Amino acid sequence: MGRALIIGAGGVASVAVAKCVQNSEVFSELMIASRTKARCDELAEKWGGKGVKITTAQVDADNVPELVELIKSYKPEIVINLALPYQDLTIMDACLETGVHYLDTANYEPKDTAKFEYKWQWAYHDRFKEAGLMALLGSGFDPGVTQVFSAYAMKHHFDEIHQIDILDANGGDHGYPFATNFNPEINIREITSNGRYWENGEWIETKPLEIKREYDFAEVGKKDMYLLYHEELESLVKNIKGLKKIRFFMTFGQKYITHLNVLENVGMTSIEPIDFNGQKIAPIEFLKAVLPDPASLGPRTHGKTNIGCIFQGIKDGKPKTYYLYNICDHQECYKEVGSQAISYTTGVPAMIGAALMMKGTWKGEGVFNMEEMDPDPFMEMLNKWGLPWRECFDPVLVD
Ligand code: NDP
Repeated sequence: MGRALIIGAGGVASVAVAKCVQNSEVFSELMIASRTKARCDELAEKWGGKGVKITTAQVDADNVPELVELIKSYKPEIVINLALPYQDLTIMDACLETGVHYLDTANYEPKDTAKFEYKWQWAYHDRFKEAGLMALLGSGFDPGVTQVFSAYAMKHHFDEIHQIDILDANGGDHGYPFATNFNPEINIREITSNGRYWENGEWIETKPLEIKREYDFAEVGKKDMYLLYHEELESLVKNIKGLKKIRFFMTFGQKYITHLNVLENVGMTSIEPIDFNGQKIAPIEFLKAVLPDPASLGPRTHGKTNIGCIFQGIKDGKPKTYYLYNICDHQECYKEVGSQAISYTTGVPAMIGAALMMKGTWKGEGVFNMEEMDPDPFMEMLNKWGLPWRECFDPVLVD
């Protein structure tokens, strides 16, 4: 039906390419373009010849003229940005210049400050609107599916939602003493930042990993989870009217935290460049280079993820609780597409969001977050494309 340009060729892109190829009714042609062309070629070799024409290109996504030239020559209907959050704004600029729709899975972060906020991308709303284009932000799992879950709960189960707790559990074990499941630089920046949650109209800031709870996750078991700030909190506070409290928790094992503490204490997680043998180098970028590549964890990772949202609110004048979640098995993902579940749970929603935009089921002019769209077609596609969801009407609540 149409052609899409995927930028980035890492863990998430590998899954998105596989899923676009499975959904060849919508994606008849793909281009994979990234900084290292060899990685694009590997993906084209793996997924080409299955009914979708795949081409590849080298592109520096920090460079708007280079992006514009590529988009003009390929003429895609959509650009699926699966590079890093640092490239969001340059890719949005190029989409505006070439008149092409945009989708990503993580909000913009300036490279020199570990700070993620929607303000930079929301500022593009009027320009996308005037151009008659749509930009869909955060079509991964969290952000992404967690917001679709929130819109679905609001549409079908509540008159008012007062509290949302987003719980992200990874029960996977890859056998390494320390590795991150997605881009290490982005992951470590997120975890070592201050935590933040929203209650009664204001943001409350915590020290990194200061708030800890234990939760017994279906098919994953009891895990320690820590309160983090996560980008979808900002948009859900804006878009779910009547919300009084929202928090985000992610599980980490003691071994992971101990390694992280040591790395932080010796300065290895710093994003401030230091002089090393006459070269400027950010310690966290060096750390990324010595840690296992997340894309290589697939064959080694066993166990499951369980990610979802617990809602508390009012329906027909009575208090109600509702838990929507997905369980994903690392080895099942590996068998299907050759990746672990973290890349899978992000790559599948990226394909679904793009497919809904290509089909015109989700349409709009401007910049949108996931909860602003009708959740029903997305929820249906989650069941169809490998991330079936489950619901529980009597969940254990987080204190
Ligand atoms: P990877 O590091 O595995 O892949 C990133 C890719 O982007 C690499 O192929 C890299 O190229 C490419 N890239 C980086 N800089 C540039 C540039 N300047 N120009 C062109 N290409 C570039 O990351 P992941 O696949 O793990 O993550 C991809 C995105 O998904 C990230 O934004 C991440 O934050 C997001 N994410 C979202 C989640 C969600 O649930 N919403 C969950 C997990 C991830 P090279 O091969 O040369 O390094």
